[in-house]
Amino acid sequence: DSFESMGLQENLLRGIYAYGVEKPSPVQQRGLVPFCKGLDVIQQAQSGSGKTATLCLGILQQLDYNAVDCQALVLVPSPELARKTERVMHSLGNYLGVKVCACEGCDRVPEDQGNFSHGVHVVVGTPDCVFDMLRRQSLSPDYVKTVVLNQADEMISRGFKNKIYDIFQLLAPKIQVGVFLATMPPEALEITRKLMNKPVRILV
Ligand code: AMP
Repeated sequence: DSFESMGLQENLLRGIYAYGVEKPSPVQQRGLVPFCKGLDVIQQAQSGSGKTATLCLGILQQLDYNAVDCQALVLVPSPELARKTERVMHSLGNYLGVKVCACEGCDRVPEDQGNFSHGVHVVVGTPDCVFDMLRRQSLSPDYVKTVVLNQADEMISRGFKNKIYDIFQLLAPKIQVGVFLATMPPEALEITRKLMNKPVRILV
């Protein structure tokens, strides 16, 4: 039950220590290894349990840093959470040279165009914002191999369910999906059934 025993890259471990965490939290202990193996993972746990770091580490461990294409999308309920996730991803991935971009409100999309199409490994944003980037082709779906829905229950209650389905329509059919949430309302269960492939379910 240490980060060292999880098979994480040396430069990711350096990022973890610099970030200031020493021991994996219970969600990280159970969720990180299957996620790093590329499996679909549902993590149901309260906020404050370390889910953001889990999804960041799972993505950071798997990225191809020699490629300059967007390989992972993180969907979140608000621009604030997009910025927070960007910060956490950036500090944990500091020694790996990760390039992560938060998509911050669709009004800013025109100036941001081009930021996302090349040279970014991970894009974080609300479903509206990410869908808009994909639709305008300022973000390419072609190399995305992992999608995480963070606070999926909150995204549903903010009315993002159909936008999430719209995004998946644009992505390759075989993609790793992580769903992180605190509660499992029926619509969240529906999302996991429609979008996930034999998910590992972790309830903390
Ligand atoms: P979250 O559940 O993602 O909102 O995380 C809540 C807080 O826990 C954040 O301030 C993290 O920095 C912190 N945290 C995440 N993982 C760990 C860990 N393994 N040990 C101690 N704190 C952590």
